[in-house]
Amino acid sequence: MSELNLILTGPPGAGKGTQAKRLMDRCGIPQISTGDMLREAVASGSELGQRVKGIMDRGELVPNEVVIELVRERLARSDCKTGFILDGFPRTPEQARVLDQILEDLGREAVRVACLQVPEQELIDRILSRGEGRADDNQETIRRRLEVYQNETAPILDHYAAALKQVDGVGSFDEIAERLAAAVGVGS
Ligand code: AMP
Repeated sequence: MSELNLILTGPPGAGKGTQAKRLMDRCGIPQISTGDMLREAVASGSELGQRVKGIMDRGELVPNEVVIELVRERLARSDCKTGFILDGFPRTPEQARVLDQILEDLGREAVRVACLQVPEQELIDRILSRGEGRADDNQETIRRRLEVYQNETAPILDHYAAALKQVDGVGSFDEIAERLAAAVGVGS
């Protein structure tokens, strides 16, 4: 395969964002984080931002159609032609189904999917200590985000069963980066 079309999934706090950035530098393909795009919308005070702020602060998912349109538009840009790293999308089976269709319409090759696995207590500790100043990085919201992950996002793992690689997300940043690169076939 010549395209590196990657979905990086896993619970909140698993390290998707940092690992996606590493892969982006390594492979020269863009990281597409719906969370970052939505936080930018909130920071800019746009109509979209005002619409999603409360939902994000509560740790709930924003409506499928909102994120799907962001991703549809982003994937059509020329810098995604040789690949992309989706970080935090899809987060529901509906998003996964629509993504399949978007990629088919764009004539893209199959996706590779990696799920970073980290025990729940470590996720909570990491989020509380990461100090990024995110409005949703507090004890109550974290619990809700973990629940939402289990109930709404984990089912996408069935959708991707054939392409899925589980990656141990505990260890040093470099160790995890190596495991991830090996799992998705980009070598070192
Ligand atoms: P993240 O930075 O990926 O942890 O996302 C932060 C928040 O943005 C999530 O808790 C959701 O409220 C929202 N969000 C990000 N991506 C999605 C998505 N694919 N579907 C629905 N909501 C999302």
